[in-house]
Amino acid sequence: MHKVIIIGSGCAGLTAAIYTARADLSPLVLDGYEPGGQLALTTLVENFPGFTDGILGPEFIELTRKQAQRFGTEFRSGAVTAVDLSKRPFKVVAGKETYESEALIVAAGASARMLGIESEKHLLGHGVSTCATCDGYFFRDREILVVGGGDTAMEEATFLTKFAKRVTIVHRRNDFRATRIMLDRARANEKIKFMTPYVVEEVHNVENKSVESVQLRNVETNALSKLDVEGVFVAIGHDPNTKVFKGQLEMDDAGYLITHDGPKTNVEGVFAAGDVQDHRYRQAITAAGSGCMAAIDAEKFLAEHKL
Ligand code: NAP
Repeated sequence: MHKVIIIGSGCAGLTAAIYTARADLSPLVLDGYEPGGQLALTTLVENFPGFTDGILGPEFIELTRKQAQRFGTEFRSGAVTAVDLSKRPFKVVAGKETYESEALIVAAGASARMLGIESEKHLLGHGVSTCATCDGYFFRDREILVVGGGDTAMEEATFLTKFAKRVTIVHRRNDFRATRIMLDRARANEKIKFMTPYVVEEVHNVENKSVESVQLRNVETNALSKLDVEGVFVAIGHDPNTKVFKGQLEMDDAGYLITHDGPKTNVEGVFAAGDVQDHRYRQAITAAGSGCMAAIDAEKFLAEHKL
């Protein structure tokens, strides 16, 4: 029986671990499918306060993990496959183990949707990115491609024009899912060019570990073309990792957990932090902040609700 289990080991989960460990709650962190979360997939983080010269995402995660361990956090690998939140102690199944906990912090994150092509995997963090706020700065005066036709794609493309020489939005349909205002704003920006209906079939050059061009296919004619770009931003949405909580924790239509009064969910004693409940800010600093809030509220809850 654990006092508190934290699901997820990204920025939110690790911050919750530091706080609950320092409160003597000996937290157990279940790593999940993507240990370290989105930060483990990025390169230089320049906007986290306190790091004058920036810090590499994986290094930041490693340090934060060690910090959590120093105060007595226990880590187990393995993704959560089932939970029972109907009564305390809550039950959490990961791999072959079933864990019990008096309080639960869900910091399972959201995973960026990817195009699903092999080259994109190899070039992630080397010119392929899923976060303009994080990586846009590195593309000053470059030619950039943004993939997607929703609000995120419009927002990222518009943001990237601050740095880029030109941004090309590639979308697989002639119609856009983006809201009118976001689309109009992107259309009015003279640095943004639209290409529809196209899909990205390949990103080159994996051998050089840098993005040099993409191969595009016109969905209507099947004609192939090459476009020289130095950065590819995949902005086709995120999926919160909440499937296992369906029917137990309240979520919105997109699957993000709904929180109230800070990190509280609809189940007393279950708290949510980070991207699993946030599709707006999605930053390391906001995830860390909400992880801290979840930990403080979990500590208060445990003090007031002894089992
Ligand atoms: P989204 O609305 O689901 O749009 C995803 C886009 O990516 C769609 O255009 C979709 O094409 C395309 N796409 C999906 N899978 C693809 C694939 N495999 N290959 C190529 N294209 C693919 O996601 P989102 O843009 O991230 O927005 C999510 C939610 O957040 C929305 O409710 C949005 O309004 C909101 N949001 C709001 C703001 C804001 O107000 N400032 C900013 C960002 C996001 P199809 O259209 O063909 O399906």
